[in-house]
Amino acid sequence: MIDEFFILRRDGLSLFHMTLEENSFTIQIPTDLFAGFSSAIVAFASELGSGHLSKIEIEDQIYVYKVMKDLITVAKMSSDDDETIAEHVVSILHREFVKDYKEELRGYDGTVRRDIFFPFTNKVHEIIAKCEKIAEKNPNLLANIPPSIELEVIEKLSDFSEELVNNFPDATIKLTREFQQKLPDDFMNYTMFKLGKEVGKDVAQKKIKKNVNDKAMLKLLREISVCSLDNNIVTLKICPFCRGRKTKEYDCGFVAGFIEGAYNDPTIEVREVSCHAVGNKYCEFEIFKKLNEE
Ligand SMILES: [Zn+2]
Repeated sequence: MIDEFFILRRDGLSLFHMTLEENSFTIQIPTDLFAGFSSAIVAFASELGSGHLSKIEIEDQIYVYKVMKDLITVAKMSSDDDETIAEHVVSILHREFVKDYKEELRGYDGTVRRDIFFPFTNKVHEIIAKCEKIAEKNPNLLANIPPSIELEVIEKLSDFSEELVNNFPDATIKLTREFQQKLPDDFMNYTMFKLGKEVGKDVAQKKIKKNVNDKAMLKLLREISVCSLDNNIVTLKICPFCRGRKTKEYDCGFVAGFIEGAYNDPTIEVREVSCHAVGNKYCEFEIFKKLNEE
């Protein structure tokens, strides 16, 4: 549970602060002092040149930061809580704040009128509630999806998560193709891989119920399309996931994830090694089996 939320200007001015949960750790220092401290540490982190500050841990409290352009968004929570919720919350609320107060932020000349931001309180409650609902229903979903993805896409994924498994393969193919288009290119394959892995694991558990060997994995995959396995390479003769798509990068992360998830064995990794969408004849996936780890 997030117990405090801040939006600060990068120069150390506090624009918005709210307390969600009163507890003994509620910040006792003035928010302006916290804003000044955050501004300094964000500046220090960017001086180091290795990207932005993302969190600070003090004892059993975590401050999750999102730094973008002129603003710093911070959520404070206890370290036993789900950090991925806070990561999504700060990113989403950062975007919402910039969108809702575009004019006000532009015309901000240093005169602090924090009351104009007060209605944002409702949005903070709303977004946190939505993210918590998603996390409750699909505990791994937020961790698998980059926080830059729009909330409505994640909500839709969460709403249809059962269908992806229960109506395999028809709904799985249809919904996956739909989601693919909503994801930004640079995250698409990664996110689809993660999603495929969850779906593969659940489908295999539901349909096979015992350890999944190569034969069982192929049986699942054959429900999707004509395929074969040879020398640890799975070949999909017709791939319904990238059919009709032309891309620069390999496009079928979902299938790679699905196969890896179906095995559900930490010593097995699966990567796409050729893809119809980039102009290869077939979509192919290599299965790497790590032997005698250590
Ligand atoms: Zn494909």
